[in-house]
Amino acid sequence: MDEFELIRCYFAPLSPARPNVVLGIGDDAALLAPAAGHLLAVTSDTLIAGRHFPVDTAPFDIGWKALAVNLSDLAAMGARARWFTLALTLPDVDRPWLAGFAAGLQALAADADVALVGGDTTRGPLSVTITAIGEVPAGRALRRSGARPGDRIAVSGTLGDAAAALRQWQRGDAVVGEGQRRLRARLDRPSPRLALGLALRDLAHAAIDLSDGLAADLGHVLDASGVGAAIQAARLPTSAELLIAEPDADARQRLQIAGGDDYELCLTVPASRWIAAQQAAATLGLSLTDIGEIVQTRGFSVYDGNGAPLRFTEAGYRHFP
Ligand code: ADP
Ligand code: MG
Repeated sequence: MDEFELIRCYFAPLSPARPNVVLGIGDDAALLAPAAGHLLAVTSDTLIAGRHFPVDTAPFDIGWKALAVNLSDLAAMGARARWFTLALTLPDVDRPWLAGFAAGLQALAADADVALVGGDTTRGPLSVTITAIGEVPAGRALRRSGARPGDRIAVSGTLGDAAAALRQWQRGDAVVGEGQRRLRARLDRPSPRLALGLALRDLAHAAIDLSDGLAADLGHVLDASGVGAAIQAARLPTSAELLIAEPDADARQRLQIAGGDDYELCLTVPASRWIAAQQAAATLGLSLTDIGEIVQTRGFSVYDGNGAPLRFTEAGYRHFP
């Protein structure tokens, strides 16, 4: 099977005809028609086997995740996802692998209503690079630089689930039972919060998606905005599965604050719009949790339920000695 047959067989079906794709797969470049008055939001992410996903990850999940992490970036900009390209490096032509990979990609592409419009196919160690393109009305994108003192800090869904699954995989422990399967699904099949990004675009001041963990990612917002954050550890949204997987509160908070891969959105919302933001999330069937406040003093601080500051250690967050 040559490269062109491979593209025809597995990837052309992900490229349905649509008005905003003047020319899709098959020429030297795609021709896209963005809506009038919109800017293009463009983002790329690469997944490398063994680095960005466990080597035993199902091909379906690799396809899903490669697209999901890119769509998550568009969600964090408040952009509407439209198109993507796929640069795929494969060690060999493994048809069952390709069929699974394409099915995972297709499942999320259909879900998010995005069209594959081109790419590149080469031989080498497995790696997947996707470039996703979205549209956002000029002047209305959510940026990292918009956080203001007094904003509530909001996160969607729950935190720490993917990190718990990754830790379990790193320890070599088998996935046993429904709860552990749900945690592993959070690592393998993240849900990009596209609808939430759109719903909060005109309510939030700033947003970022949580790929590297709350401390690191919110840290980017704080740097870009020139502000600090006061986080309430007791308010971090926690799944029932994570409570079981990590009963120790310190260790659990470490997963939630330092662990990555949840692909939830973290937004800062002015207090006057908090109720509207929470209602907008609820309409989408998503929880939005107030985990703290943007403050003037720079830095990322975490407090316990009594207002005492916690200090990050290797084992987790602890009280100052
Ligand atoms: P060129 O040599 O002009 O770069 P290619 O032979 O790399 O063209 O690709 C031929 C066509 O197939 C192009 O339209 C390209 O965008 C598309 N394509 C290549 N690989 C993929 C892929 N993995 N998924 C989707 N489209 C692809
Ligand atoms: Mg090419």
